Amino acid sequence: CGIVAYIGPKDATTFLLEGLQRLEYRGYDSAGVAVAGKTGGLKVCKVKGRVADLAAAVPARFKGTTGIGHTRWATHGVPSDANAHPHVDNAGRIAVVHNGIIENADELRAKLTAEGVTFTSETDTEVLAHLVAAHLTDDGELEDAVRAVLGHVVGTYGIAVLDSARPDRIVVARNGSPIVLGIGEKEMFVASDVAALVRYTRQVVHLEDGELATVRAGGFNTFTSDARPTTRQPSTVDWEI
Ligand code: GLU
Repeated sequence: CGIVAYIGPKDATTFLLEGLQRLEYRGYDSAGVAVAGKTGGLKVCKVKGRVADLAAAVPARFKGTTGIGHTRWATHGVPSDANAHPHVDNAGRIAVVHNGIIENADELRAKLTAEGVTFTSETDTEVLAHLVAAHLTDDGELEDAVRAVLGHVVGTYGIAVLDSARPDRIVVARNGSPIVLGIGEKEMFVASDVAALVRYTRQVVHLEDGELATVRAGGFNTFTSDARPTTRQPSTVDWEI
């Protein structure tokens, strides 16, 4: 339902929680955040309920400079803490938030289960976290793994993917569910709706269907599913807030 992400010098959680709050008007049943920082390790907090419930549940020591957040409108699996996003792979390294529906999730889940993966939710989304982990190679980039995974996926998505072992980037993709990049000063924001970003930046790029982006603190690059770079000029949002 709602996606936010942050990468930059500041504490990611502050923007993530505030951004999620600005997406509340869309309606949702659960919310969650995941952050990573230079000290390593992935921190995840997710709850059934409101963003205020999530904010109350986030521990004091929940620091990270790269993070992703989500408000969920359940399509596959009841509203619950376990089914809330972000979803994480079995090593606790990769975190994914997703808007939309993965239509071949059952088939992908059966295959992953046969390969020894343990599922911790009933969502269609969780397959994405395990698939990205499976496609990561020692010398490959996160965006290559995400591109490979999306080649196996049928359905609609806006996604944001975080690799806590390399928190220098977030990879996002869009197919039928909006993703907007917000350009800041040595920091970048991502959201599924401009409303989450306008307090932080007016310079935005709307991804197109079939497009992906690698987002770093210093900027971004966009490309197609077959890794061809695309050129996107930022536009300026001129709303009153
Ligand atoms: N299909 C996913 C789920 O049920 C995402 C739903 C959404 O867009 O919030 O968890």
